[in-house]
Amino acid sequence: MDNILSGIKPTGQLTLGNYIGAIKNFVKVQNEGESFLFIADLHALTLPIEPQTLHDNSRDIAAFYLAAGLNPEKANIFLQSDVAAHSELAIILQNYLYMGELSRMTQFKDKSAKMKEEAIGLGLFTYPVLMAADIVLYDSKRIPVGEDQVQHVELARDLVKRFNNRYGETLVMPKAEVAKVGARIMSLSDPTKKMSKSDPKGDVYLKDSVDVIRKKIMSAVTDMEAKVHYDVEKQPGVSNLMTIMSSLTGKSFEQIEKEFEGKGYGDFKRAVADVVIAELAPFKERYEQIVKSGKVDEVLAKGAKRANEIASKTLVRVQKAVGLYHK
Ligand code: ATP
Ligand code: MG
Repeated sequence: MDNILSGIKPTGQLTLGNYIGAIKNFVKVQNEGESFLFIADLHALTLPIEPQTLHDNSRDIAAFYLAAGLNPEKANIFLQSDVAAHSELAIILQNYLYMGELSRMTQFKDKSAKMKEEAIGLGLFTYPVLMAADIVLYDSKRIPVGEDQVQHVELARDLVKRFNNRYGETLVMPKAEVAKVGARIMSLSDPTKKMSKSDPKGDVYLKDSVDVIRKKIMSAVTDMEAKVHYDVEKQPGVSNLMTIMSSLTGKSFEQIEKEFEGKGYGDFKRAVADVVIAELAPFKERYEQIVKSGKVDEVLAKGAKRANEIASKTLVRVQKAVGLYHK
């Protein structure tokens, strides 16, 4: 069984996009191999963040992982910063990725677009180096991610190829796994933009109350076409709502179109809200219980112990390969 790896940055409150594009898939695959699901707190430092916010968001993501159904007996849930090998390996691997390819990364271009060059932290630029280290440390072949992270996984693949060509078979080749539907949930208020937790208008947050979720979905941007039809170019808002519904119910776009033929957007949005609430409501309760139970720190400690075991072995393998290990 292949190892599985993925992470989420504690940069803000988790969104419906994080749930559909990432967490839901983690739960699905947790019995198919050993999973390493970390909270990417080092990555969260690539943009300004308050220390307390970083700390609180990190625990919060762990609690949501558990509430969503991840079993800490099977999946290793841990903080990236609890495993020093991530940082150590990144320092080595940075020598096998190049300025040109890093500057072509969409995430870097997006996140630095409005910043002055003097204000762009190096960590934002070298983000894919640390991400490549995250991936290869656990010999994981399967990397379940949303669409926006595929480019980074591809870069990690290039790096593995480059490294293994130079030093012999040392690193395991990873592959991104992207859900057929829901790998890129768009913002409800601007369906041309990805829903993102670091965006203040991040739209639906997993922590939102049922009433707030319903209100946000009912006021989602649609169009004048007045028909429930999948067409990303002409009807991005409606298509996004269809994607949300499809990914949570398994219904195809054709089925949804048929179901809402002749009906208005009001009816359709009400149905989408029902589906989202039915999915999220039960685990919101579990989330509250988990936070109260104080279980999160225990789970993170257990996860870090196992992660350190595997990661330190990979690090030694790389150190030996490049000639750094003398013991
Ligand atoms: P940030 O704004 O800080 O980049 P984010 O919401 O983009 O936050 P990440 O921590 O960057 O979240 O990504 C965590 C996981 O969630 C990744 O696998 C990413 O591909 C996935 N993801 C993020 N946004 C979406 C989205 N809108 N639709 C589907 N998947 C998403
Ligand atoms: Mg992101």
